[in-house]
Amino acid sequence: MAVAWKQTAAEYKALYHQAYNMARLQVDLALAYHRPGDKPLAIITDIDDTIILPINYWGYLINNNKDFFDDAIWDKWIPQYKMVASPGALEFFQYCKEKGVEVFYVSNRDQGPNTYEYAMTQLNKLNFPYIDNSHLTVNRETSNKEIRQNEIAQKYNVISYLGDNLNDFRRVYYVKDVDERTKLMEQDKDLYGSKFILMPNPTDGHWIRAIFGDSEPPATDQNRAIWKKAAARSAWEQK
Ligand SMILES: [Mg+2]
Repeated sequence: MAVAWKQTAAEYKALYHQAYNMARLQVDLALAYHRPGDKPLAIITDIDDTIILPINYWGYLINNNKDFFDDAIWDKWIPQYKMVASPGALEFFQYCKEKGVEVFYVSNRDQGPNTYEYAMTQLNKLNFPYIDNSHLTVNRETSNKEIRQNEIAQKYNVISYLGDNLNDFRRVYYVKDVDERTKLMEQDKDLYGSKFILMPNPTDGHWIRAIFGDSEPPATDQNRAIWKKAAARSAWEQK
């Protein structure tokens, strides 16, 4: 259902427009309050499932009867450059460029020594602005984005962070417990839609790590049983 939704639902696409419309509003507000001498303005964004979508990869998995994320296929698929831009993404980042708001791309990817080149080529193919060594960071060794985000925040006034995973906003969310993760998010509820702009992703991310203890659990019957238990976490018991 999650993949069919990504493939077909106008609601899925509309959520990206909603997110980028919110982000644009934040940019306009920041520009209105920006004074000479203030730190320059910037947006920090995640890449996969935030500004570009791997829909075609998921279709391949379905056609090959895969019911879990498959890292080996993912690593082969990435250098095929089949990603598409998220609805509204290019327009938003182009708007940032026109207004002098710099965009920093911070991603976690690991396809070996060519990881950085693959990411840069994909973003250039889709004509995203600011694709250069100072604006594109790819962490291969860690999923912790805060080191790079903090470096950027020292020099820039970061208007908003864009992502499809709570970890794209704050590392403190990187916990393995479902309830704790939710509790931490609730503590920041006022920041969603302004400082933190969240995109939809029902197929992958650290929410899966909170269920399995692993973001990419292997496709085993034991894990299928864990999926089922997660899906029935709250379930009516008819008397
Ligand atoms: Mg992502």
